Amino acid sequence: MRLKAVEMQGFKSFPDKTKITFEQGVTAIIGPNGSGKSNISDAVRWVLGEMSMKSLRGSKMDDVIFNGTPTRPASNCASVSLYIDSEEEYRSTHQLTLDMEEEVSADEKPRLSDSPETVITRKYYRSGESEYYINRKLSRLKDIYEMFYDTGIGREGYSVISQGKIAEVLSQKGDERRSIFEEAAGISRFRYRKTEAERKLADTENNLLRVTDILQEVASRVKPLEKEAENAKQYLVLSEEKKGLEITLWLNRLDDLREKRNLGEEGLTHAQNALEQAQLAETTLEKELDDQLNESYEFARLMSLTEQEKSVSERIKAEAEGEKAVCLNDLQHYEQIVSDSNSEIAESEQRSA
Ligand code: ATP
Repeated sequence: MRLKAVEMQGFKSFPDKTKITFEQGVTAIIGPNGSGKSNISDAVRWVLGEMSMKSLRGSKMDDVIFNGTPTRPASNCASVSLYIDSEEEYRSTHQLTLDMEEEVSADEKPRLSDSPETVITRKYYRSGESEYYINRKLSRLKDIYEMFYDTGIGREGYSVISQGKIAEVLSQKGDERRSIFEEAAGISRFRYRKTEAERKLADTENNLLRVTDILQEVASRVKPLEKEAENAKQYLVLSEEKKGLEITLWLNRLDDLREKRNLGEEGLTHAQNALEQAQLAETTLEKELDDQLNESYEFARLMSLTEQEKSVSERIKAEAEGEKAVCLNDLQHYEQIVSDSNSEIAESEQRSA
Protein backbone atom coordinates (compact mmCIF):
# COMPACT_ATOMS: atom_id res chain seq x y z
CA MET A 1 0.00 0.00 0.00
CA ARG A 2 1.37 3.42 -0.92
CA LEU A 3 -0.06 6.93 -0.78
CA LYS A 4 -0.19 8.12 -4.40
CA ALA A 5 -1.86 11.51 -4.15
CA VAL A 6 -3.93 13.83 -2.05
CA GLU A 7 -6.52 16.09 -3.62
CA MET A 8 -8.04 19.05 -1.77
CA GLN A 9 -10.77 21.53 -2.61
CA GLY A 10 -12.12 24.16 -0.25
CA PHE A 11 -9.93 22.71 2.53
CA LYS A 12 -8.20 25.33 4.74
CA SER A 13 -5.83 27.37 2.52
CA PHE A 14 -6.72 25.41 -0.67
CA PRO A 15 -9.89 26.94 -2.16
CA ASP A 16 -9.16 25.57 -5.67
CA LYS A 17 -8.88 21.91 -6.55
CA THR A 18 -5.26 21.01 -5.76
CA LYS A 19 -3.77 17.55 -6.32
CA ILE A 20 -0.39 16.68 -4.85
CA THR A 21 1.08 13.44 -6.18
CA PHE A 22 3.70 11.40 -4.35
CA GLU A 23 6.10 9.51 -6.60
CA GLN A 24 8.23 6.55 -5.53
CA GLY A 25 10.85 7.50 -2.95
CA VAL A 26 10.76 10.45 -0.60
CA THR A 27 8.72 13.57 -1.31
CA ALA A 28 9.55 16.75 0.55
CA ILE A 29 7.22 19.76 0.55
CA ILE A 30 8.95 23.02 1.26
CA GLY A 31 7.68 26.57 1.54
CA PRO A 32 7.73 29.66 3.71
CA ASN A 33 6.06 29.75 7.09
CA GLY A 34 2.28 29.83 6.84
CA SER A 35 2.23 28.69 3.19
CA GLY A 36 0.08 25.63 3.99
CA LYS A 37 2.50 22.68 4.39
CA SER A 38 0.94 21.47 7.63
CA ASN A 39 -2.52 21.92 6.09
CA ILE A 40 -1.61 19.07 3.71
CA SER A 41 -0.87 16.64 6.57
CA ASP A 42 -4.02 17.93 8.32
CA ALA A 43 -5.92 17.03 5.14
CA VAL A 44 -4.52 13.48 5.24
CA ARG A 45 -5.51 12.98 8.89
CA TRP A 46 -8.89 14.64 8.33
CA VAL A 47 -9.87 12.38 5.44
CA LEU A 48 -8.97 9.36 7.59
CA GLY A 49 -11.58 10.50 10.12
CA GLU A 50 -9.72 12.83 12.47
CA MET A 51 -12.36 14.41 14.71
CA SER A 52 -10.25 16.34 17.19
CA MET A 53 -10.26 19.96 16.10
CA LYS A 54 -7.35 20.58 18.46
CA SER A 55 -5.10 18.25 16.53
CA LEU A 56 -6.38 19.85 13.29
CA ARG A 57 -5.34 23.19 14.76
CA GLY A 58 -8.82 24.68 14.79
CA SER A 59 -11.63 25.25 17.28
CA LYS A 60 -14.68 24.07 15.33
CA MET A 61 -15.26 21.82 12.31
CA ASP A 62 -16.06 24.85 10.07
CA ASP A 63 -12.39 25.86 10.45
CA VAL A 64 -11.42 23.21 7.90
CA ILE A 65 -13.44 25.00 5.20
CA PHE A 66 -11.67 27.79 3.31
CA ASN A 67 -12.90 30.90 5.08
CA GLY A 68 -12.28 33.44 2.31
CA THR A 69 -10.05 36.42 1.81
CA PRO A 70 -10.85 40.10 1.20
CA THR A 71 -10.86 39.33 -2.54
CA ARG A 72 -12.32 35.83 -2.55
CA PRO A 73 -15.55 34.49 -0.99
CA ALA A 74 -15.45 31.61 1.48
CA SER A 75 -16.18 28.06 0.28
CA ASN A 76 -19.27 26.13 1.34
CA CYS A 77 -17.68 22.71 1.36
CA ALA A 78 -14.31 21.18 2.15
CA SER A 79 -13.41 18.04 0.25
CA VAL A 80 -10.28 15.88 0.46
CA SER A 81 -9.51 12.65 -1.41
CA LEU A 82 -6.64 10.23 -0.78
CA TYR A 83 -5.48 8.10 -3.68
CA ILE A 84 -3.92 4.89 -2.38
CA ASP A 85 -2.06 2.36 -4.46
CA SER A 86 -3.49 -0.93 -3.13
CA GLU A 87 -2.34 -3.17 -5.97
CA GLU A 88 -0.26 -5.35 -3.66
CA GLU A 89 -3.24 -6.13 -1.38
CA TYR A 90 -5.46 -6.64 -4.40
CA ARG A 91 -3.03 -9.09 -6.07
CA SER A 92 -2.25 -11.05 -2.91
CA THR A 93 -5.97 -11.56 -2.14
CA HIS A 94 -6.70 -12.69 -5.65
CA GLN A 95 -3.70 -15.03 -5.61
CA LEU A 96 -4.96 -16.43 -2.32
CA THR A 97 -8.36 -17.02 -3.86
CA LEU A 98 -6.80 -18.96 -6.73
CA ASP A 99 -4.57 -21.00 -4.41
CA MET A 100 -7.53 -22.05 -2.32
CA GLU A 101 -9.49 -22.82 -5.48
CA GLU A 102 -12.60 -21.47 -3.89
CA GLU A 103 -14.05 -18.09 -3.43
CA VAL A 104 -13.11 -16.25 -0.27
CA SER A 105 -16.40 -15.35 1.37
CA ALA A 106 -16.87 -11.69 0.65
CA ASP A 107 -18.64 -9.78 3.39
CA GLU A 108 -20.12 -6.34 2.85
CA LYS A 109 -17.17 -4.44 4.30
CA PRO A 110 -14.97 -2.54 1.86
CA ARG A 111 -11.27 -3.54 1.90
CA LEU A 112 -8.06 -2.23 0.44
CA SER A 113 -7.86 -5.45 -1.53
CA ASP A 114 -11.12 -4.72 -3.40
CA SER A 115 -9.38 -2.79 -6.19
CA PRO A 116 -5.83 -1.92 -7.28
CA GLU A 117 -6.46 1.74 -6.43
CA THR A 118 -8.45 2.89 -3.40
CA VAL A 119 -9.85 6.40 -3.20
CA ILE A 120 -11.03 7.68 0.18
CA THR A 121 -12.99 10.93 0.22
CA ARG A 122 -14.39 13.05 3.01
CA LYS A 123 -16.65 16.07 2.48
CA TYR A 124 -17.91 18.55 5.00
CA TYR A 125 -20.53 21.24 4.31
CA ARG A 126 -21.04 24.46 6.25
CA SER A 127 -24.57 23.23 6.98
CA GLY A 128 -22.91 20.59 9.20
CA GLU A 129 -23.37 17.55 6.91
CA SER A 130 -20.48 15.11 6.58
CA GLU A 131 -19.99 12.52 3.87
CA TYR A 132 -17.46 9.71 3.48
CA TYR A 133 -16.80 7.79 0.29
CA ILE A 134 -14.73 4.71 -0.46
CA ASN A 135 -14.06 4.38 -4.18
CA ARG A 136 -16.77 7.03 -4.79
CA LYS A 137 -19.37 4.96 -2.96
CA LEU A 138 -21.06 6.60 0.01
CA SER A 139 -19.68 4.85 3.13
CA ARG A 140 -19.49 5.16 6.88
CA LEU A 141 -16.58 6.54 8.88
CA LYS A 142 -16.52 3.15 10.62
CA ASP A 143 -15.66 1.46 7.29
CA ILE A 144 -12.69 3.80 6.85
CA TYR A 145 -11.44 3.12 10.41
CA GLU A 146 -11.69 -0.60 9.85
CA MET A 147 -10.02 -0.44 6.47
CA PHE A 148 -6.89 1.12 7.91
CA TYR A 149 -6.60 -0.77 11.18
CA ASP A 150 -3.02 -2.07 11.73
CA THR A 151 -1.74 -0.24 8.67
CA GLY A 152 -0.38 2.63 10.74
CA ILE A 153 -2.38 5.00 8.52
CA GLY A 154 -5.54 5.30 10.59
CA ARG A 155 -6.76 8.36 12.41
CA GLU A 156 -4.54 7.55 15.36
CA GLY A 157 -1.84 5.90 13.26
CA TYR A 158 1.82 6.64 13.67
CA SER A 159 2.35 7.43 9.99
CA VAL A 160 1.32 11.08 10.33
CA ILE A 161 3.50 12.74 12.91
CA SER A 162 2.73 16.41 13.21
CA GLN A 163 4.91 19.18 14.59
CA GLY A 164 5.84 18.60 18.25
CA LYS A 165 4.34 15.08 18.21
CA ILE A 166 7.69 13.28 18.64
CA ALA A 167 8.56 15.34 21.73
CA GLU A 168 5.05 14.59 23.07
CA VAL A 169 5.48 10.82 22.50
CA LEU A 170 8.89 10.75 24.14
CA SER A 171 7.56 12.53 27.20
CA GLN A 172 4.64 10.08 27.56
CA LYS A 173 4.61 7.25 30.08
CA GLY A 174 4.96 3.62 28.96
CA ASP A 175 1.22 2.97 29.11
CA GLU A 176 0.39 6.02 27.04
CA ARG A 177 2.88 5.00 24.35
CA ARG A 178 1.39 1.54 24.24
CA SER A 179 -1.29 2.39 21.65
CA ILE A 180 1.34 3.42 19.09
CA PHE A 181 3.26 0.14 19.55
CA GLU A 182 0.04 -1.84 19.49
CA GLU A 183 -0.91 -0.26 16.19
CA ALA A 184 2.57 -1.02 14.80
CA ALA A 185 2.43 -4.61 16.02
CA GLY A 186 -0.99 -5.14 14.46
CA ILE A 187 -2.69 -5.74 17.82
CA SER A 188 -5.16 -2.87 17.53
CA ARG A 189 -7.24 -4.75 14.97
CA PHE A 190 -7.75 -7.58 17.44
CA ARG A 191 -8.33 -5.15 20.29
CA TYR A 192 -10.92 -3.41 18.14
CA ARG A 193 -12.52 -6.72 17.18
CA LYS A 194 -12.55 -7.77 20.83
CA THR A 195 -14.28 -4.51 21.80
CA GLU A 196 -16.76 -4.94 18.96
CA ALA A 197 -17.40 -8.58 19.94
CA GLU A 198 -17.86 -7.57 23.60
CA ARG A 199 -20.28 -4.86 22.55
CA LYS A 200 -22.24 -7.33 20.41
CA LEU A 201 -22.21 -9.88 23.24
CA ALA A 202 -23.55 -7.26 25.64
CA ASP A 203 -26.26 -6.36 23.08
CA THR A 204 -27.15 -10.04 22.65
CA GLU A 205 -27.33 -10.55 26.42
CA ASN A 206 -29.63 -7.56 26.70
CA ASN A 207 -31.78 -8.93 23.90
CA LEU A 208 -31.86 -12.34 25.61
CA LEU A 209 -33.02 -10.68 28.82
CA ARG A 210 -35.74 -8.87 26.96
CA VAL A 211 -36.82 -12.07 25.20
CA THR A 212 -37.01 -13.90 28.57
CA ASP A 213 -39.11 -11.06 30.00
CA ILE A 214 -41.40 -11.15 26.99
CA LEU A 215 -41.69 -14.96 27.25
CA GLN A 216 -42.75 -14.73 30.88
CA GLU A 217 -45.27 -12.05 30.09
CA VAL A 218 -46.62 -14.03 27.17
CA ALA A 219 -46.90 -17.23 29.28
CA SER A 220 -49.17 -15.45 31.77
CA ARG A 221 -51.45 -14.43 28.92
CA VAL A 222 -51.75 -17.89 27.34
CA LYS A 223 -54.97 -18.97 29.20
CA PRO A 224 -57.01 -15.87 28.41
CA LEU A 225 -55.60 -16.00 24.92
CA GLU A 226 -56.83 -19.59 24.46
CA LYS A 227 -60.35 -18.43 25.29
CA GLU A 228 -59.94 -15.53 22.94
CA ALA A 229 -58.65 -17.89 20.25
CA GLU A 230 -61.77 -20.08 20.68
CA ASN A 231 -63.94 -16.97 20.37
CA ALA A 232 -61.97 -15.87 17.36
CA LYS A 233 -62.47 -19.28 15.68
CA GLN A 234 -66.21 -19.09 16.32
CA TYR A 235 -66.21 -15.56 15.08
CA LEU A 236 -64.50 -16.71 11.88
CA VAL A 237 -67.11 -19.47 11.30
CA LEU A 238 -69.99 -17.05 11.96
CA SER A 239 -68.53 -14.34 9.86
CA GLU A 240 -68.09 -16.84 6.98
CA GLU A 241 -71.79 -17.75 7.38
CA LYS A 242 -72.72 -14.09 7.48
CA LYS A 243 -70.69 -13.50 4.35
CA GLY A 244 -72.57 -16.35 2.57
CA LEU A 245 -75.94 -14.93 3.63
CA GLU A 246 -74.98 -11.48 2.58
CA ILE A 247 -73.94 -12.81 -0.83
CA THR A 248 -77.31 -14.60 -1.25
CA LEU A 249 -79.11 -11.41 -0.21
CA TRP A 250 -77.15 -9.40 -2.67
CA LEU A 251 -77.80 -11.92 -5.45
CA ASN A 252 -81.58 -11.73 -4.79
CA ARG A 253 -81.41 -8.00 -4.70
CA LEU A 254 -79.48 -8.11 -7.97
CA ASP A 255 -82.24 -10.28 -9.58
CA ASP A 256 -84.93 -7.83 -8.39
CA LEU A 257 -82.99 -4.93 -9.73
CA ARG A 258 -82.46 -6.66 -13.09
CA GLU A 259 -86.23 -7.31 -13.35
CA LYS A 260 -86.99 -3.70 -12.50
CA ARG A 261 -84.47 -2.60 -15.04
CA ASN A 262 -86.13 -4.76 -17.75
CA LEU A 263 -89.56 -3.32 -16.89
CA GLY A 264 -88.14 0.15 -16.94
CA GLU A 265 -86.55 -0.48 -20.33
CA GLU A 266 -89.90 -1.71 -21.71
CA GLY A 267 -91.69 1.37 -20.36
CA LEU A 268 -88.99 3.51 -21.89
CA THR A 269 -89.50 1.91 -25.32
CA HIS A 270 -93.29 2.54 -25.11
CA ALA A 271 -92.79 6.08 -24.01
CA GLN A 272 -90.32 6.63 -26.85
CA ASN A 273 -92.84 5.28 -29.40
CA ALA A 274 -95.61 7.48 -27.98
CA LEU A 275 -93.27 10.44 -28.11
CA GLU A 276 -92.44 9.74 -31.75
CA GLN A 277 -96.17 9.58 -32.64
CA ALA A 278 -96.91 12.76 -30.70
CA GLN A 279 -94.07 14.46 -32.53
CA LEU A 280 -95.50 13.26 -35.86
CA ALA A 281 -98.99 14.56 -34.94
CA GLU A 282 -97.47 17.86 -33.83
CA THR A 283 -95.69 18.22 -37.18
CA THR A 284 -98.93 17.54 -39.09
CA LEU A 285 -100.89 20.04 -36.95
CA GLU A 286 -98.22 22.64 -37.38
CA LYS A 287 -98.43 22.19 -41.14
CA GLU A 288 -102.22 22.53 -41.09
CA LEU A 289 -101.97 25.61 -38.96
CA ASP A 290 -99.53 27.10 -41.41
CA ASP A 291 -101.93 26.38 -44.30
CA GLN A 292 -104.85 27.97 -42.42
CA LEU A 293 -102.80 30.99 -41.55
CA ASN A 294 -101.83 31.36 -45.21
CA GLU A 295 -105.51 31.07 -46.22
CA SER A 296 -106.58 33.66 -43.65
CA TYR A 297 -103.85 36.03 -44.91
CA GLU A 298 -105.22 35.55 -48.47
CA PHE A 299 -108.79 36.10 -47.26
CA ALA A 300 -107.79 39.29 -45.45
CA ARG A 301 -106.01 40.52 -48.59
CA LEU A 302 -109.14 39.85 -50.69
CA MET A 303 -111.31 41.55 -48.07
CA SER A 304 -109.18 44.63 -48.19
CA LEU A 305 -109.34 44.67 -52.04
CA THR A 306 -113.19 44.30 -51.90
CA GLU A 307 -113.35 47.13 -49.34
CA GLN A 308 -111.34 49.35 -51.68
CA GLU A 309 -113.56 48.45 -54.66
CA LYS A 310 -116.69 49.07 -52.54
CA SER A 311 -115.56 52.55 -51.55
CA VAL A 312 -114.69 53.34 -55.23
CA SER A 313 -118.20 52.15 -56.26
CA GLU A 314 -119.80 54.22 -53.49
CA ARG A 315 -117.87 57.29 -54.60
CA ILE A 316 -118.98 56.69 -58.28
CA LYS A 317 -122.59 56.11 -57.08
CA ALA A 318 -122.53 59.38 -55.11
CA GLU A 319 -121.17 61.24 -58.15
CA ALA A 320 -123.87 59.67 -60.34
CA GLU A 321 -126.59 60.66 -57.84
CA GLY A 322 -125.22 64.23 -57.83
CA GLU A 323 -125.30 64.31 -61.62
CA LYS A 324 -128.85 62.82 -61.55
CA ALA A 325 -130.04 65.59 -59.17
CA VAL A 326 -128.47 68.23 -61.46
CA CYS A 327 -130.25 66.60 -64.46
CA LEU A 328 -133.59 66.53 -62.57
CA ASN A 329 -133.11 70.16 -61.70
CA ASP A 330 -132.26 70.93 -65.33
CA LEU A 331 -135.36 68.92 -66.40
CA GLN A 332 -137.64 70.86 -64.06
CA HIS A 333 -136.04 74.03 -65.29
CA TYR A 334 -136.61 73.07 -68.94
CA GLU A 335 -140.14 71.81 -68.17
CA GLN A 336 -140.83 75.21 -66.56
CA ILE A 337 -139.43 76.93 -69.62
CA VAL A 338 -141.62 74.70 -71.91
CA SER A 339 -144.71 75.34 -69.75
CA ASP A 340 -143.98 79.07 -69.67
CA SER A 341 -143.43 79.07 -73.43
CA ASN A 342 -146.67 77.14 -73.95
CA SER A 343 -148.58 79.63 -71.80
CA GLU A 344 -147.02 82.56 -73.70
CA ILE A 345 -147.82 80.85 -77.00
CA ALA A 346 -151.49 80.32 -75.88
CA GLU A 347 -151.72 83.93 -74.74
CA SER A 348 -150.28 85.21 -77.98
CA GLU A 349 -152.73 83.10 -79.99
CA GLN A 350 -155.68 84.40 -77.98
CA ARG A 351 -154.54 87.93 -78.57
CA SER A 352 -154.04 87.34 -82.21
CA ALA A 353 -157.45 85.66 -82.63
P1 ATP B 1 4.82 26.62 9.22
O1 ATP B 1 5.95 26.40 8.29
O2 ATP B 1 4.88 27.90 9.96
O3 ATP B 1 4.42 25.46 10.03
P2 ATP B 1 2.91 25.92 7.21
O4 ATP B 1 3.46 26.08 5.82
O5 ATP B 1 2.80 24.56 7.75
O6 ATP B 1 3.55 26.90 8.20
P3 ATP B 1 0.11 25.97 7.67
O7 ATP B 1 0.12 26.01 9.13
O8 ATP B 1 -0.18 24.69 6.98
O9 ATP B 1 1.45 26.57 7.11
O10 ATP B 1 -0.95 26.98 7.08
C1 ATP B 1 -1.31 28.13 7.75
C2 ATP B 1 -2.07 28.99 6.79
O11 ATP B 1 -3.29 28.38 6.45
C3 ATP B 1 -2.37 30.33 7.42
O12 ATP B 1 -2.02 31.36 6.48
C4 ATP B 1 -3.85 30.33 7.61
O13 ATP B 1 -4.41 31.62 7.34
C5 ATP B 1 -4.27 29.40 6.52
N1 ATP B 1 -5.58 28.77 6.90
C6 ATP B 1 -5.83 27.93 7.90
N2 ATP B 1 -7.15 27.62 7.95
C7 ATP B 1 -7.73 28.29 6.95
C8 ATP B 1 -9.07 28.41 6.47
N3 ATP B 1 -10.11 27.76 7.02
N4 ATP B 1 -9.32 29.23 5.41
C9 ATP B 1 -8.33 29.88 4.80
N5 ATP B 1 -7.03 29.82 5.20
C10 ATP B 1 -6.73 29.03 6.27
